[in-house]
Amino acid sequence: SAKDNGRQCFRFFTKTMQEDATHRMRLANDLRHALKQNQFLVYYQPIIDLSSGQVYKAEALIRWQHPELGFISPASFIPIAEDTGTIHQIGNWVFSQAIEQVKACQAISKRKFQISVNKSPVQFLVERGDQHQWLDQIRDSGIDGDNIVIEITEGILINNDIRVTQSLLQYRDAKIQVAIDDFGTGYSSLSYLKKFDVDYLKIDQSFTQSLSLHSSEYALCEAIIVMAHKLGIQVIAEGVETEEQHQLLKQMGCDFGQGYLFSRPVPAAQLIEFITATSTVDAL
Ligand code: C2E
Ligand code: MG
Ligand code: MG
Ligand code: MG
Repeated sequence: SAKDNGRQCFRFFTKTMQEDATHRMRLANDLRHALKQNQFLVYYQPIIDLSSGQVYKAEALIRWQHPELGFISPASFIPIAEDTGTIHQIGNWVFSQAIEQVKACQAISKRKFQISVNKSPVQFLVERGDQHQWLDQIRDSGIDGDNIVIEITEGILINNDIRVTQSLLQYRDAKIQVAIDDFGTGYSSLSYLKKFDVDYLKIDQSFTQSLSLHSSEYALCEAIIVMAHKLGIQVIAEGVETEEQHQLLKQMGCDFGQGYLFSRPVPAAQLIEFITATSTVDAL
């Protein structure tokens, strides 16, 4: 009967929710030990200069190899790390890895090499003493500020949080660059682009992936590129998977592309191989 079905459903959902909560608690607990047990890796995804085919940028993306559960996606564990506060230690570790990788890439690259690192909103909300951590890490390493790009989402800029504003001013003073990640999915007000010193817009992959000549995404991407260039901002298209998307973006004047068409995120050593290989061919 309908009543039985209803009860069945109720039981089913409750069980799933219970399992989710248990799983989440397990991950939260395991996350606290993951760093000192060396379970994290940083992968790097090359970012391609669309006009030359050259690679002098990459994005650092964390990977968690759980001893029993295997690889766990950052989309599932980063929110937990944010809620439990482990994101701060994890983020600082990713940053230190990125600095080492800058040094390695810079050594084989014929020009300045940049690595971008994601910074989630809660990472800005730190105690006073910890605010300069990344600046200190850069200074101690001897790399230049503009070897680093910090990727943030637009939501963080609309609240006028003093800690965010101060961090961004410090980044500017240190020549660290700033990219707006997942651009187009957030807020409609664009006034923050004028107010803050933004260097890159990263067009969200949902736009890139629906891109075809007569699509509304084509108009949107083109408009983003024109606007960004007028503001002196460069554009990176995320999630480029097909040659058609690549060519359309290139024709529109999009500066950079990132996606499985060029390369998936790869371990550090493979990024070095990729840079070496692409510096010897003319264009992709
Ligand atoms: P994101 O910063 O927007 O990173 C881009 C995501 O798109 C990555 O997922 C990347 O592997 C994926 N991707 C790249 N090219 C393609 C493509 O052609 N097709 C498709 N379908 N996907 C593509 P990933 O590595 O799973 O990371 C997910 C998110 O987790 C990131 O999104 C970022 O928000 C967060 N994240 C990753 N590493 C870190 C970190 O070290 N710190 C913080 N705070 N967040 C991180
Ligand atoms: Mg990113
Ligand atoms: Mg700048
Ligand atoms: Mg993104």
